[in-house]
Amino acid sequence: MSYSYKITLLGDSAVGKTSLIQRFVEDTFAEDYQPTLGTDFYAKSVYLPEIDIEFNLTIWDIAGQRSFREHISKYMSGSNGFILVYDLTRPPTLNNLHTSWERDLKEQVSSFDSLILIGNKNDLKNNRKISLEDCIAIEKSLNACDHLEASALSGDNVNDAFKKITWDIYKNNRKKQLQNPLI
Ligand code: GDP
Ligand code: MG
Repeated sequence: MSYSYKITLLGDSAVGKTSLIQRFVEDTFAEDYQPTLGTDFYAKSVYLPEIDIEFNLTIWDIAGQRSFREHISKYMSGSNGFILVYDLTRPPTLNNLHTSWERDLKEQVSSFDSLILIGNKNDLKNNRKISLEDCIAIEKSLNACDHLEASALSGDNVNDAFKKITWDIYKNNRKKQLQNPLI
């Protein structure tokens, strides 16, 4: 049995979506900023030893620019999971998850299995401008399965975030199948 999931990263420009994906897929990091134009996607498999299953992930990287936002619904549809990314050094990027990215999700995607939050750039300890309380409040309001602080630069928590969302998608799919075996 093979499992294939589509996971899409969302969040404002320059929060580190592309960097997180590149760290996860290629284990590399680039200092210079190259804005993503339109959409890119990457493939990577993930093995979860607890259940002895390998998952084939397709990871979609969507440009954060407002001008592109109206076109994103077609890229978001069919995603099993969403990773919402904000930058721990820029508070508006957290608020925007709540006010604008969540709204886009609700309006444009009918259903999905899992959503996880990543506060990126946790290597920049001295520039951190977001309190733990604010993070927890947004996590609750988004109904996220988990919330991790990570760094694409150091690699901290990057693999864990992708593994957690994979595991959560799997778990929620199983639940659905047990409730409705004909699916
Ligand atoms: P995107 O627009 O969300 O895809 O953001 P990028 O991945 O292109 O990253 C934007 C900028 O932030 C780039 O200059 C990256 O080098 C930098 N960056 C990304 N992740 C981190 C991180 O974890 N720590 C630090 N210090 N910089 C990061
Ligand atoms: Mg990008």
